[in-house]
Amino acid sequence: MKFACPHCGEKTFSPIQKAFCGGMSNVGKPCMKCGVRCVNGIPSLVFRSICMCIAAVMIFYTYFTHETLSEVFWFGVVPLAAAYVLGLLFDMFIGKLVPAIKRQ
Ligand SMILES: [Zn+2]
Repeated sequence: MKFACPHCGEKTFSPIQKAFCGGMSNVGKPCMKCGVRCVNGIPSLVFRSICMCIAAVMIFYTYFTHETLSEVFWFGVVPLAAAYVLGLLFDMFIGKLVPAIKRQ
């Protein structure tokens, strides 16, 4: 399973490579065929923002309602890690690549 480069159309990105291209604010990774740097597009940005918002709400809520360390771990740290992993999975399998706007 490979993803097509938005510039030359060749399937040069593996899911892992695609996930580590980063988002719109990153410099991205170059395509192996044409060398154009690619990043994950707006859907990835939106999805990550939503995940982070949910995690932030949970952490905020946890801050006021839980006291023991294990509760803080399960409701404060795990959502943050889950949000990060979900963002990576989204980039790996769902979102589309776009050419990077930012210059190196
Ligand atoms: Zn290319």
